[in-house]
Amino acid sequence: MTSVESGEIDNRPPTPVEEDCCGNGCNPCIFDIHKKLLEKWNKEKFDKLNDTLLDKNYLSPVKYSAFIIDKITKACEDCIFVCLNCKSKKEDDIIFLSPSQHVMIKLDTVTKPYTPISWSRKSIKLLIKLYSNGKASNYVKKLKVHDELSIRGPYGEFKYQRNSYKHILMLSIGSGIAAMYPLASSIVQDDLEDTKINMTVGFRSFSHVPLNDELRLLSDYWNFECTLYLSQESTANMTGINIVSNRLNGDIIRGILNSYSSESCLILICGTTEFNETVEKIVVEKEFSHYHVFR
Ligand SMILES: Cc1cc2nc3c(=O)[nH]c(=O)nc-3n(C[C@H](O)[C@H](O)[C@H](O)COP(=O)(O)OP(=O)(O)OC[C@H]3O[C@@H](n4cnc5c(N)ncnc54)[C@H](O)[C@@H]3O)c2cc1C
Repeated sequence: MTSVESGEIDNRPPTPVEEDCCGNGCNPCIFDIHKKLLEKWNKEKFDKLNDTLLDKNYLSPVKYSAFIIDKITKACEDCIFVCLNCKSKKEDDIIFLSPSQHVMIKLDTVTKPYTPISWSRKSIKLLIKLYSNGKASNYVKKLKVHDELSIRGPYGEFKYQRNSYKHILMLSIGSGIAAMYPLASSIVQDDLEDTKINMTVGFRSFSHVPLNDELRLLSDYWNFECTLYLSQESTANMTGINIVSNRLNGDIIRGILNSYSSESCLILICGTTEFNETVEKIVVEKEFSHYHVFR
């Protein structure tokens, strides 16, 4: 059966052959046109897929879904990774999330937001920072493999569209990296992306840095650059990653912003309330038009 007979319309723009380009630097070149058409086609395909997947989503914003803990591992000195599988074994139940969206997890008497750092059709992986006197933290510390958790979502109005900015500057501290990592990961793996990412994150020391291996992998991509600011450490090294021994403060952020255009750069901010407020104030002061604070 052909795609037309099956009711499918495969209208992918045909790729020009090498000989279609005269090599005289035409504006627009046939390959530039093809790239634009392909982007539009991909977006329409993605939107259609989104609608289908949202109907089937195992997660719901208005009711809890059951997950079973599959694995708990140490991520760094004060963070753990928690991997969860859908409790349902139904083939049709799949998880649908956009990068940097969060979910709400019922943890004993409290329900707290967490941002999945990665996911598949049937599982999600969380990075959870454990606070010594935290209500949710104290419950999470006692969780074991095979325990059940109730989760609802996804939430978060932030939506990213391919190639809508020349640069994305991600400014975060501590577990705020959980909101940045999935977006960075999806952008660098997208062959049609021209956007460059600068991820700048502050931590206390190198032993407080989670996602070391993941950041190293991202740094292999042409469009990813990462700088870690360590406030209490003077000697640390990480291949592919810039390390600066200093607190990520307002003056440093002002300096970083000076290298970017306020029109073509998207700034993403995620940290403590105090960090978010300080950075947002600087971003507004410097008249950057595009920014989002994850809070
Ligand atoms: C949209 C969103 C997404 C989030 N995603 C993640 C995530 O992926 N991973 C993650 O670990 N956390 C994430 N958080 C934070 C998380 O929801 C909890 O608030 C946090 O883990 C603390 O919960 P708790 O109950 O253990 O501590 P609480 O009982 O709320 O607080 C206990 C003490 O811990 C300290 N503390 C708590 N939160 C902070 C903070 N943000 N900064 C500094 N000190 C603090 C304070 O000293 C506080 O008095 C997210 C928050 C939001 C709003």
